[in-house]
Formats: sequence, structure tokens, C-alpha cells
Amino acid sequence: MKIFNEIESEVQSYARSFPRVFKKAKGEFIYDQDGNEYLDFLAGAGSMNYGHNNSIFKEKLLEYIESDGITNGLDLHTDAKGDFMTTFKKKILEPRGLDYMLQFTGPTGTNAVEAALKVARNYTGRDTIISFTNGFHGVTLGSLAATGNSTHRSASGISLQGVHRMPYYGYLGEDVNTTAYLDKVLSDSSSGIDTPAAVIVETVQGEGGVTSCDMEWLKDLQTVCKKHRILLIVDDIQAGCGRTGTFFSFEKAGIQPDIITLSKSLSGYGLPFSLVLIKPEYDLWKPGEHNGTFRGHNLAFVTAKAAIDAYWSDDKFEKEIRTKGDYVQKRLEDIIAKYGDGNLHARGRGMFQGINCVNGEIANNITSKAFKKGLMIETSGADDQVIKLLCPLTIDIKNLEKGIDIIEQSVKEVCRNADVPVDSDYFDDVVLNNNNK
Ligand SMILES: *Cc1c(COP(=O)(O)O)cnc(C)c1O
Repeated sequence: MKIFNEIESEVQSYARSFPRVFKKAKGEFIYDQDGNEYLDFLAGAGSMNYGHNNSIFKEKLLEYIESDGITNGLDLHTDAKGDFMTTFKKKILEPRGLDYMLQFTGPTGTNAVEAALKVARNYTGRDTIISFTNGFHGVTLGSLAATGNSTHRSASGISLQGVHRMPYYGYLGEDVNTTAYLDKVLSDSSSGIDTPAAVIVETVQGEGGVTSCDMEWLKDLQTVCKKHRILLIVDDIQAGCGRTGTFFSFEKAGIQPDIITLSKSLSGYGLPFSLVLIKPEYDLWKPGEHNGTFRGHNLAFVTAKAAIDAYWSDDKFEKEIRTKGDYVQKRLEDIIAKYGDGNLHARGRGMFQGINCVNGEIANNITSKAFKKGLMIETSGADDQVIKLLCPLTIDIKNLEKGIDIIEQSVKEVCRNADVPVDSDYFDDVVLNNNNK
């Protein structure tokens, strides 16, 4: 179709990697207009954790539309919103011993981050935020200031302020505990780093290259924040909603962030929906201070509630994610062992894993080959060097196997096509790893 070249802005990105016109999608499959079928390991950049057009949610959504339920209600109290809140409280917060106020922001993830940063700044009266190397928090100015990626940052056209950067887990090598460094600069009045309002962190850096932090590090981070009376914001927009194996990605660390942002897979159906969870003592918003027209996207409330009811009423789904995650890890370790010359370690969490090819060109060659074989999968990281597996969590195990087979085959072909044959020094450079260290 010519129209896309004619009048769609050059800003397109995913469309360039997957140059087809897509028409239909169901579960873990997406179809182009010629009827070609692709296994979807891109899954809306992690916004389709429950698969495309999940039949359970679709039924609820159609019922709601059929009954002329409210679609956009600004922030009016509606049935759909109340039902979502009740379910979220009962099935997500209470069983985990969590107590938060819910703020509905505009429907994109970055809007939730903007709100979270405002809450922290206004509560503490401090103006800086600490974020981490390779972190991604969205592309509106406040969130962008906390984002590392230079391409995104430079597009702002103005100086981005109010954020100090600290080394993420493992940034300086495995032996350096970067929270000790954080504690040190915050304890030293001449370090040049003023006490910030908050620290914002992803437990797995999605856009930054699928780097996951260790749970001890996360605990230490909370301890340092408490010590210096800084709020801890966990940006769980991509890692949350089950991706790592638990509803929130920080559950295993046993921490309680002061603020949590959720979006991407929260609605379950791919409908835009963002949420900020605020510990009650920090909820000092004045009426209407942070607003937005679409804070009451009721169709998203309906499907988000259905998603919680269907998948988070007991621990069955968690177990399923764990089994699949173990399988993915084993397969990636195997691929790395076969084609990575043994000098690597497989890492990643749950169903949030990747293969670090170190070199972006190699990673892109692999993903283009995969696409030709019927698998959609994206790259992430500073140089697009990491192949990121984000298939729906609900994927049938046979299709998961099939998708990874395609990855394996593509890795093999790309490595064979390289100038230097297999089993040579070539692989000393082409380190295949699912952690970008
Ligand atoms: C995607 C993402 C965002 C931004 O969400 P948008 O809906 O694209 O604005 C923020 N933080 C993280 C961790 C993300 O993955």
C-alpha cells in the first residue's frame, strides 16, 4: 500500500522492521493482508501479554459495548471503573499486602511516569530525580529527562533537566555494587549530587537491552532510598503485569516501592491504559492538578478487570509463566552454548529474556531472517544489539518452541554467513548472551 510512504511521517519505526500491512491477530499470531501468518514475539512491545483479541476479554468488552456502557467518562465515577478498582484491590493489592492509592492518568505510559515524578517532586519539595544508565521511561519531556537513549533525548530539542544518572545494576561489572556508590554520593555533601526527590528504576530494562537487576540490589536500593528519605519509584510499565513471572516485577525482592507505574499490558486487550500507584501518605494531589481527557477509558477498565479475574485469581498463571520462562532460559542457554563459543552466561527473568549479540547489525540480521521465516521479534539496547523475546505469556508451549526454533535457525544462518566460518575466533567477538554485559 502506497499511502504509508506517501503521507505517514518518517518517524515510523517498527513498521520499517516489519514492512507488511497487517490485518488480523489472534493469540500469539498476527496476519498480514496477504494472509501470511507470523508468530508474534514483539507483542506490542510487551502490551499484549495475554495475546491478541483474547476471547475472554473480548466477550466482556462486546457485552459492555452492547449495553451502551460509558466509553469515555473523563474521571467520572463509573461502574466499570469501580469494578476494576474493587478487583485490583482484592486480587492484586491485598493478597500482596500492598496499600496504594490509584491515580488514573492519560492513557500512555509516559503520562503515568510524568505524574509519578510530579508526586515525588511536590511531596519532597526537591527538584531532581535519579534514574539509571540505559533506563527508558517514555518520551515526553519529564520522562525523557530520565531516559538514557541519546536518539530519543536529542529529539527533544531543548535541554533536559532535573535528572542525575547513576550506574544501573552490573553497569560497572558484576563485582561493583552500584547502590554502594549511590549511598556514597548521597552521603557526601560535596559529591555534587543533591539529594533527589526520587529514584526511578526498571527491574528489567526493556528498551535498554533486557538487563535485569538482582533482587538483593533492589533491596539495597530501597534501603539507600529510605536512609536518605528519597522516594522509590518502580517503573513497571513493561516488566509488570506478569512478564517476569509475578504480577509486579519486584515481588521477589519483597520491597514496597513508594510509587509504581503500570501501563502496556494492564488493559490486557491492547487498549491504552495507565495507572500510578501511590502510597497513601504521598497522595497530596490537589483536585485536577494533573488531568487529561482520557483518564476514564472505560473499555480498558472492563478488559483490565477481566484480565485480573481470568489470570490473577489464583497462582496457576504464575506457575505457567515460570515453566515457560524456564524453558526459554534453557533454550537460550543452549543456543548460546552452541553458537556463542561457551564464554557466556544466560540471564533474564521469567518471560522477559533476550540474546545479546553485542553488535546491532548481527542482531538485526538475525531478526530479519526470523521475520522471513514467520517470526516477528524486535531488538533493543543502545545499539539494537539485543534480541528481545516478548511473546504473549499465554502462548501455547508448542508455538513457543516453534518460535525459538526459528530464532535458533536464524542465529545459525547469520553466524554461518559471516566471513569467518563457525568455530573460529569470530565468536570471541560475537558474544551471544541474554544479558547485555
Ligand atoms: C514503554 C515504556 C514507557 C512509556 O510508555 P508509553 O506508553 O510508550 O508512553 C515507560 N516506561 C517503560 C519501562 C516502558 O517500557
